[in-house]
Amino acid sequence: VPELPEVEVVRRGLARWVAGRTIDNVEVLLPRSVRRHLGGPVDFADLLVGRTVTGVERRGKFLWLPLDDDDAVLAHLGMSGQLLMQPSDESDEKHLRVRIRFADDGRELRFVDQRTFGGLQVQTLGPDLFTGRVVPESAAHIAPDPLEAVFDVRRLAAALRRRRTGIKRALLDQSLVSGIGNIYADEALWRARMHYARPTSAFTTAQVGTLIGHATDVMQQALAQGGTSFDSLYVDVNGSSGYFERSLEVYGREDEPCRRCGRPIVREPFMNRSSFRCPTCQRVPRGAHW
Ligand SMILES: [Zn+2]
Repeated sequence: VPELPEVEVVRRGLARWVAGRTIDNVEVLLPRSVRRHLGGPVDFADLLVGRTVTGVERRGKFLWLPLDDDDAVLAHLGMSGQLLMQPSDESDEKHLRVRIRFADDGRELRFVDQRTFGGLQVQTLGPDLFTGRVVPESAAHIAPDPLEAVFDVRRLAAALRRRRTGIKRALLDQSLVSGIGNIYADEALWRARMHYARPTSAFTTAQVGTLIGHATDVMQQALAQGGTSFDSLYVDVNGSSGYFERSLEVYGREDEPCRRCGRPIVREPFMNRSSFRCPTCQRVPRGAHW
């Protein structure tokens, strides 16, 4: 499943190719891939033809292409979705689902999705509930991610103090902050020497700032290592994860020595997934919220 850095790699890769281009023709090869578009495949295509894509934007793992009015094409990458800019004469990918041709260009945008959990839809844009940033309807209730210009650590800290929960649950709660997945939460908490069950009610704004700073660093690091595909027309959401895994400090390192103190890292069940931590650097806090 692509995480925020992979989605940002896709966003950057696409932005310079599609921004300012006018859609000439849309071909839906698999109706299932536009099933979230309630008007159906014909309506999806009709809404897009003649419209100009003005950019590529992202919040957390939401990715969308704003059009020259109040709509956007929202892309759900799902498990295996890819958005590729390809020369029009390039042969079709085996799992090509939607083709978007541009009027003034020899290239086309292709949505390729092997497992078909992803899809495209046209959605209306409007202000979110947090900052007023204009986002697709489905993202209006999703809080800003730490890489967004509108992200405000004071707003997050105030929201955390109102909750009675543990910090990792809060980091994974998209109504508080988006884009921080399980791996990034564990890495940020290890760097901040914090246990995942630490109660959010006692966090200072400075502590939240430190923790979010670590999460941002880890995501920027992943982003930098995913940058190898930037120069390619082929933007691959799965392209660089293996390289990044080798630079993780705690996630996936059960029984291996903590890189700070040498104590073996432990893995504990957490929200149907796992949490990795150092038992010395990240002690169980008083008033823990499991
Ligand atoms: Zn340690």
